[in-house]
Order: sequence, then structure tokens, then C-alpha cells
Amino acid sequence: MQRKLQGKRGASKGVTLAPRTDSPSKTVEKLPDNPTPDELRDAAVTISLADLEERVADVRDSWETESLFEDTFEVLISDETSASASGRASVCTPEEASRLRRELREYGPAVFCQRTVDSGRYTAKKLLSAFGIKAPAFLEGAPDEDYYSLLSLAITRELSRRAKLSRYNTVDDAVDLIRRSSNIIILTGAGISTSLGIPDFRSKGTGLYSKLEHLGLSDPQEAFDIDVFKQDPTIFYSVAKDIVPAIDRYTPTHKFIAMLHEHGKLLTNYSQNIDNLEVMAGVPKDKLIQCHGSFGTASCIQCGYRIQGEKIFPDIKAGRIPECPRCVQNLRPAGGPPKRKRSAGADGKKRRRWGASAANSSDEDDDSEYDIPTAGIMKPDIIFFGEPLPDEFSKRLTEHDRDKVDLVIVIGTSLKVTPVSEIVSWLPSHIPQIYVSRQAVNHINFDIDLLGDCDVVITELCRRLGWDLNHEMVDPAAGIDVRTEEGYKSRHVFTPEDAKIAAETADVPQ
Ligand SMILES: [Zn+2]
Repeated sequence: MQRKLQGKRGASKGVTLAPRTDSPSKTVEKLPDNPTPDELRDAAVTISLADLEERVADVRDSWETESLFEDTFEVLISDETSASASGRASVCTPEEASRLRRELREYGPAVFCQRTVDSGRYTAKKLLSAFGIKAPAFLEGAPDEDYYSLLSLAITRELSRRAKLSRYNTVDDAVDLIRRSSNIIILTGAGISTSLGIPDFRSKGTGLYSKLEHLGLSDPQEAFDIDVFKQDPTIFYSVAKDIVPAIDRYTPTHKFIAMLHEHGKLLTNYSQNIDNLEVMAGVPKDKLIQCHGSFGTASCIQCGYRIQGEKIFPDIKAGRIPECPRCVQNLRPAGGPPKRKRSAGADGKKRRRWGASAANSSDEDDDSEYDIPTAGIMKPDIIFFGEPLPDEFSKRLTEHDRDKVDLVIVIGTSLKVTPVSEIVSWLPSHIPQIYVSRQAVNHINFDIDLLGDCDVVITELCRRLGWDLNHEMVDPAAGIDVRTEEGYKSRHVFTPEDAKIAAETADVPQ
């Protein structure tokens, strides 16, 4: 199931990833007829690397899985702590890693390798850690040369990423950038809506995911699979009431995006959220791309009739399956009451195919000729697995935004979901990029990381911009503590002052 879903998702991507290294089968083909032990060993290493590459690509293709490299990096950081404690660092410190990555770009890979590994200043194994890669178990105990191919993979990957711009680092740099930019791209994710209690339904461990598991779905993503929906929409509608947006509230962060527009600074808001709260906050529709669709409208899966999304909210909240008003209208004989006969397949022998027209269900069996046409089911226009992404996404990005953008701000998303995750590497690399979220990410080099609750970070930015963020969730009198994370001059942590005291006695989750 997982593979099928990933394949479908991959097929609908608007932006593609760089090609991978040789596949295992290619590596084997390339082996001579009588390979030497060395050639065999090299091939074995390449195959393992290809596996690793594939795993990375799979991880990046999947909808919600954590990044392999990010996981690795977290392991590295804890390893580093224990290594420093024992007096021998086997991995690079954050400062060292960022200096090494800068040197790689300055000198190029050949000189970089001369100055590091060839000169004996670094082992290839330790150098890998500068690129966020932990030495894999299959190379444990191997001579350092065996790490070279993995190192070259790491170097290639690093060079394909955008480099951090060294001149932007502080919170005030971020404020200045906002002040002088006039074509800002905002990328948003679930993190900007969570303060309203809207679950990030992609994250495992949240209420929605466990609810889906309790429904006995082998893969919780099935609830959002278009084929499953067409077979049986009750699965989706049994959870939809929990993700249907609160229709009268939005967060200070939504308000901030609308304020950027009011100040003539918003180019486009690419949102991964389906709650449609951007529109409510006042972000104009022509500056908004809802990359995964939204609850803003709903369409009939049979005849395509589209209505305002809110019209089906009462059905969703009551646990009813909304039917298409146009289909219902057409089924009704002129002047008479609606004619709703039982389908011939509903005698328990066979599951009724929801939304399938009589013509389409001819494969069912020979009693299909007795099938009475039924009304189509309405589906919110959120993008399900198996459905193509909106065309406007890549069109807007490539034909409109790419040449205009002067600042990128990513808010409340870990950027692990394509295609939005590809946007930042796709834009010109000299355009500054700011990241606002609870936790830093390691797979993208942002110029400035503003870490904390999005609403808190935004409140402080507005204060420094002199913008009046008038929102019921913001207390203008409350102080916000900003401190720079040790070892990272461009990483700043924002904490409300009343929360700070509590945080000092206990670890804040995430
Ligand atoms: Zn219809």
C-alpha cells in the first residue's frame, strides 16, 4: 500500500528531484566477467550506497515520513555530546560543520578534499558528519578509504543545495529584509494552524492518526486515497468532521500574511494547508496557491458540480455523507418527489459502488442492468492521494514568481512534502530565505532560522517592524524572550516570557 501511494504521489509532482547514482542492477551490469576482489568490494559499496540513495529518495517522496538525514543528524548531535564527554570528538561540532561546508563551496571539492582528508586533518568518516551523515553500520570497522564514495555522495548532495547567504544572520536582518522586500513568497504548513487546535493530520502520534488506526485502516493514508473514497466514502467522512476547519477563526500568523499583502509585499502564499484559513484572514485568492487543495470548495465525484465548501460542513459535522444537489435534482422526475430506489447490489451480496455511474459499473456483474442511477457524492476539493496537484502551482512558480521574488519566508512546515519542499531549492539561490518553525531543519540551508511557536515569532517580528498586529490571541503587553542558539549565529529561539520560567524547570516538548 505504502509503495502504491508513494508511486502515485510521485507521479503527480510538479518539480522533479536530481537523478540518483547508479541503481544496484546497473552496478552489477557494469562489473567485468571476472571481477577482482577490489572491483567486487567497490561494487558492493556502490550497491549499498545506491540502497541508501534509494532510501533517501523514498523518504523524500513519501508524504509524511521523517527525513533520513534529519534523523541521522539528531543521532549525530547526541553522539557528539557523548564523544566530547569522553574527550574525543568523532563528529564535527555545528560551527566546524558550517565552516567546512563553506570551505567546500569556496575551494571546490578537489581542493577541499586535499585540505581535509588527503592532508590527514580529517578522516572521511568524521568529515561525513559535517554533511549530516552518520557512518552507516555496514561500513563499521572498514578502512577509511571505504568511506570515500559515501563522502563524495555527501559532497555532491551538499553542492546541489542552495548555500546559506553569510550576510544575513540576526533577527534584525530578518526584519530589514521584510521591510525592504516587495515580492515575498510565503510557504506555509500545518504549524501555522495548530494554535487553533487544528491537528497536523500528517503527523503520526496526533489524535487524527490514531483515530484512523482505530478504524482498522491498514494504512491511515487510505482515508485520503481517491480510489478508497470512490469505493467507500464513509471512511473519509468518519474522520472528516475532525479536520473540517473552524470557520470563524484564524491565527496571528495568518493575519501576518494578510498584512504583508496590505503592505504591498506579498507575491504568493503557497500553502500546504487545506483549512482555507488564509482566505478568511484576508489573503486574496489570486495570491494564494493551496498546494493540497482546500475545504473552500467541494465537488461531485460523479458529475463534477462544484459548490462552496461550507455548504457541506453541516453534513460533515453530523457524520452524514453529502450528496450532489445537481445529481439529486436530475434523478427527480419532473414534478414528483425524489425517486431513491435501492440499488440491486445492496442486498448484501455486493458492496455498492458509491458514485459510480451505471455505465461505469458494467464490470460489476450481469445484474448491473437493474442498477438505479444514484446521486454522486460530494468531496471537499482537498487533494487526495492519486489525484493530480493543481496545475496553477508549477505554472505560478515558474512563469510568474521565479523572476520576481525578493524574499522567501517558510513558516510552520518542516518542508518534507513534495512539491512544496522543492520550491526553496528551485528559486534563485541569491534570494534570501528565512525559516520560522518550532525546530530547525537540516536538509535545507536557510539564511536565518527563527525558532519557536509561529505566532510568537510573528508577534515579535511585527513589534520590530512597527506593525500593529491586532489579534485576539496576541497580548501586546506580553514580553518575548529572544536568544541566539549556541554555535549557530543565525538561529534564534523565541519564547514568551511567562513560558520561559516554566521551561527552565522542564523540557518543552518539541
Ligand atoms: Zn453530481
